[in-house]
Amino acid sequence: MDTSKERIKNNSDIDDEYLCPICFHLLWKPVECQNCQRLFCKICIDKCLKEKPNVCPLCQHYQEKRCSPVFYALLCKFKIECENKQNGCKDILLYESLEKHQQEQCQYQMKICRGCQKNILKKDLEQHEQNCGEIKIECKRCNLVYKQKEKHEQLDCLMNMLDRSNKKTESLEKLVENLQQSVQKLEAAMDLHLLTGLSLSVVHDVSLSSLISAWNTIYDFPYSHKTTVEELRALRSQCKKHIIVGAIQGSSSMILKIAAIGPSEILSLDSSLNQPTKFGNVHWYLTQSKSFGFAPSSTTINCQSADNGEKDNSENRLSWHLDGQGGYRAGAVKGLNSNDEWRKIIMTEKHY
Ligand SMILES: [Zn+2]
Ligand SMILES: [Zn+2]
Ligand SMILES: [Zn+2]
Ligand SMILES: [Zn+2]
Ligand SMILES: [Zn+2]
Repeated sequence: MDTSKERIKNNSDIDDEYLCPICFHLLWKPVECQNCQRLFCKICIDKCLKEKPNVCPLCQHYQEKRCSPVFYALLCKFKIECENKQNGCKDILLYESLEKHQQEQCQYQMKICRGCQKNILKKDLEQHEQNCGEIKIECKRCNLVYKQKEKHEQLDCLMNMLDRSNKKTESLEKLVENLQQSVQKLEAAMDLHLLTGLSLSVVHDVSLSSLISAWNTIYDFPYSHKTTVEELRALRSQCKKHIIVGAIQGSSSMILKIAAIGPSEILSLDSSLNQPTKFGNVHWYLTQSKSFGFAPSSTTINCQSADNGEKDNSENRLSWHLDGQGGYRAGAVKGLNSNDEWRKIIMTEKHY
């Protein structure tokens, strides 16, 4: 703290004991050396002790003691000019008010303009910054940052906003494109999920409308139709990876009363009698001159010609004659050899 003698009012009668032996200014927040009983500004003695610890500049044996309240009260009587006197401050402050005045209240302290970085008196700063051309301003509408001295025309502002919204539109369009791709992937994944979901086991009452977007019907004949091995083999050229085999009751019905899904190679099976092949949780068989069909893998097939398994999983069996008769069963409904109401259905994926 610069409290040089010249700044102290009525400085002619200042006794040396009020001055710091290091900086020769009026003691500022002093502490005492207990050994020699001299006072120093706290800042001054700390600087010395940093270089030579425990060495008093006067008596060599420094031992710190706080300044006596009586002496401090005497210091408080001094009146001191503000350090900003040369800038125009005429204030004379009591010892205790000096620091706060100079650091916070004095209107004549120097501040740096946020624009031109020049030193400006605190009292003039607000007005200066209002007019300083270097001050940066951000337009609230178009977010352009420009210097106060530069003009921000309405047309420029509009063009900026247009640019910004164009950029936004572009990024939104990109986002939409990405989303569309994701949706396509998801749809593909869902189709697959549908496949695996169905392949778990024999299912009932599946709506064709839920399949129609991803599946084509490649075989649709009444149960009275006499299915042959050749017919089934010929379907393979139209098949993608999987087939759904099922039965619908009624010419206009859209519900697969019973169905199962499996790989297309099912149509190429050449099963020995009652020796099915397991795909997922389903047993499949295509036995020449006998029958084609499926049953849950937990059960056995019981074909004379077609599967007439009765007790176990009756409702989960499908079996079509391949021996010149139509029919035979769709779940528990049997004896459909000449039935025109029930339909034999085979489907395959549109894609993959
Ligand atoms: Zn000092
Ligand atoms: Zn000392
Ligand atoms: Zn001042
Ligand atoms: Zn400025
Ligand atoms: Zn603007």
